[in-house]
Amino acid sequence: MKMKAALMYGPSDVRIAEIDKPECPRDGLILKIMAVGLCGSDIRNLTSDSRKGNYPFIYGHEIVGYVDEIGTEQTKYKVGDRLFLFPGTYCMECDECISGHSENCSNRAVSSLAGTGGFAQFVAVSGEKIRRGGIYDIPEDVTFEAASLGEPLTSVFACLENINVGYPDTLVIIGAGPIGCFMSQLAKIRGAQKIIMIDLNDTRLEMAKQFGVNVTINSTKEDPIATVLTLTNGKGADKVISATPANATQTQSIHMVRKGGLVVFFGGVPKGSMTELDCNLIHYNNIWIKGHFGASYSQSKRAFQLAISPAFPTEKFITHILPLDKINDGIRLTRTGEAIKVVLRPWDKA
Ligand SMILES: [Zn+2]
Ligand SMILES: [Zn+2]
Repeated sequence: MKMKAALMYGPSDVRIAEIDKPECPRDGLILKIMAVGLCGSDIRNLTSDSRKGNYPFIYGHEIVGYVDEIGTEQTKYKVGDRLFLFPGTYCMECDECISGHSENCSNRAVSSLAGTGGFAQFVAVSGEKIRRGGIYDIPEDVTFEAASLGEPLTSVFACLENINVGYPDTLVIIGAGPIGCFMSQLAKIRGAQKIIMIDLNDTRLEMAKQFGVNVTINSTKEDPIATVLTLTNGKGADKVISATPANATQTQSIHMVRKGGLVVFFGGVPKGSMTELDCNLIHYNNIWIKGHFGASYSQSKRAFQLAISPAFPTEKFITHILPLDKINDGIRLTRTGEAIKVVLRPWDKA
């Protein structure tokens, strides 16, 4: 049997093609993908030589759908179950997992089970993945599109929990993309008092205002450091999160935080690049700098529950639902800032 998929053939070369439907693993299942989110990391991968010439390849990791087939040895799920696949997979046996930080799992064989291949009509889920966990049931009354937000929300949820954003924080978020918007909304839910959003793009900043942002700064028009200092009586913010792929915003971030404050490097920067930091400022101002990536199982489950709960306005984040065939439009809409979150539907007609 054939299926439709969006295959990457090289940087910015994504084509819709008919390929073989994957075989159902004996102890696994085949998921019929009903919705798949288009992630910032997907866009970075699809537009750069992310596979070092090793093409074609199918990206897409924000995957939700129905169980379409089960292997003869699969007992946990049945055909028709509605599932969310968290792409992180952890062993729950290594020291890191046992410590409660499964996001740092050191069992590489297990973490390499991370799910991808979502830009297609079906995906195979291995028995090993099912045994290791990170697959959650989607209630009947929740749309697949809403459930797909569980994945991008996960890392944000984990970050804000790890650095304990709450009342009465003043928080600076650099980067008004979908991740920055999730951060702002969640920071508000957690009790942050003032949220300052910085970006280069007015369209994005304007859209970010619906997610609890108190002040926006366009850093091409005003000096973001001076403005943050003015807004905080010269002290700097309690916490600053750099959620862009740029080294420059990491450099700036330590100049916006108060003495003893916390800076998080959330966004990945170009591989091998170096960031210049004023280390004497870090030293004399007792600044904490923290990296962030991923989420533990516990956080992923709670983030998923938040994404599907009425407390979280998923419908405001999903600005575009497009057929998979329109993936290139989705990339463009996200890049220009016209879209916050694009969700693709592999079974819709173009
Ligand atoms: Zn994602
Ligand atoms: Zn582990």
